[in-house]
Amino acid sequence: MNKYIKRVIEDVRAKNADQSEFLQAVEEVLTTLAPVLDRNPQYEENAILERLVLPERTIIFRVPWVDDAGKVRVNRGYRIQFNSAIGPYKGGLRFDPSVNLSVLKFLAFEQVFKNSLTTLPMGGGKGGSDFNPKQSPHTPGKRCSDAEVMRFCQSFMTALYHYIGPDTDVPAGDMNVGGREIGYLFGQYKRLANEWTGVLTGKGLSFGGSLIRPEATGYGDVYFAENMLAKRGEALDGKRCVVSGSGNVASFAAEKLIQLGATVLTLSDRSGAIYAKDGISADMLKDIMYLKNVQRGEFADFAKKTKGVTFFKGANSWQLADKVDCAFPCARQNELNGKDAAYLVKHGCTLVGEGANMPSTPEAVETFLKAKVMFSPGKASNAGGVATSGLEMSQNSERVSWTRDEVDAKLKGIMKAIHDNAWDAAAKYGKKGNYVVGANIAGFTKVADAMVAQGIV
Ligand code: NDP
Repeated sequence: MNKYIKRVIEDVRAKNADQSEFLQAVEEVLTTLAPVLDRNPQYEENAILERLVLPERTIIFRVPWVDDAGKVRVNRGYRIQFNSAIGPYKGGLRFDPSVNLSVLKFLAFEQVFKNSLTTLPMGGGKGGSDFNPKQSPHTPGKRCSDAEVMRFCQSFMTALYHYIGPDTDVPAGDMNVGGREIGYLFGQYKRLANEWTGVLTGKGLSFGGSLIRPEATGYGDVYFAENMLAKRGEALDGKRCVVSGSGNVASFAAEKLIQLGATVLTLSDRSGAIYAKDGISADMLKDIMYLKNVQRGEFADFAKKTKGVTFFKGANSWQLADKVDCAFPCARQNELNGKDAAYLVKHGCTLVGEGANMPSTPEAVETFLKAKVMFSPGKASNAGGVATSGLEMSQNSERVSWTRDEVDAKLKGIMKAIHDNAWDAAAKYGKKGNYVVGANIAGFTKVADAMVAQGIV
């Protein structure tokens, strides 16, 4: 390994020994950068890697709120402002009990490169809380009420608003932070700051949101896959696809795949996975989105009443189909391991388009690359969401609203540009077809050059 990279990785390991997800993300990126560091000594001279692995600012705050039973609850809130070399910090907020400093630092670090790849001027950040909107604190098996979620969001924003702003840091949604939460967060920011600005993205359409933003990550993931397949003269029509998750990214990835003539065989959630032997139809998908987003119901019940659909309790999406062409992991980090990857390769999978952030473990990535599977890392193929957030920021600044077709066309153009940048960077550094290396190098170079130009800050 390049000596400079080795030294920085060792230092990061020593100083962040308890942060496994962050270490995994740093090692994944840094170990692919040797060719570009060898050709550009100015990066080492300017200590770019040392600066790149340290957030510019880490904010941790207390979030007290009152539940419906009148009891005081206290959660932890975070915002990691990782890198602002090429634009204001930008990245989502995640509300989930699994949220901690390691998870958010990994996500914010990834976001720096992802945002750089979008071609838009956005730095990288991420935040959230260990608050669990899916579990009421006083009634087991029930979700938090809307009023509880609102009180939590208001308290969260009361602490966060000091640190964000339309030209400083523009948060968005992530796991368990959708339109409802963004609405409450935006309302409280507006009230505290006494101004209406595009300080959050993913807003409702009636107050500055962009058309296609909810769909953008899932659609973008599929557009990226179309670009990969075009390299070998193929299309998605007729392909057998396995998708994981059933949230924002998964459902819109599935929707676009079905529109393009692919067969979506699986979806999943925390309870398990569903397998539809003849594929999930567009109508079935509508029912699933209603079940998950409105009824907040269970996959098991859905499978019982839907012909041709089987529910596998506790399973993930990867080892259910006996013939697979493409896989789209769209749920969470490290959800697809080496064994799952080996199964997919053995059963015909030749393309993996990551919709989630870092869903494949390092062993899985190695298995895919060894088998010459076309593999797109999340930081490239799920960048459509943040790119459309960038488009939302532009519309807010200009006080205009673009049509659905205009935004979709821009999203398609951006996904093609990301694909081509990653492809070209890989080829330039002797790794043709390796999107992992290509995305890391293309994302890194833009940020590193901006940092060099801006001096020692
Ligand atoms: P959602 O909360 O809408 O959906 C997450 C999905 O993952 C749900 O189906 C959830 O199941 C499932 N899931 C969560 N934890 C587990 C677990 N421990 N085991 C099994 N399944 C689990 O999130 P998003 O769709 O927004 O995000 C999904 C991924 O995409 C994340 O990695 C996120 O960082 C990434 N991403 C999202 C973007 C966006 O625009 N939303 C942008 C770029 C990346 P259940 O329904 O049971 O909770």
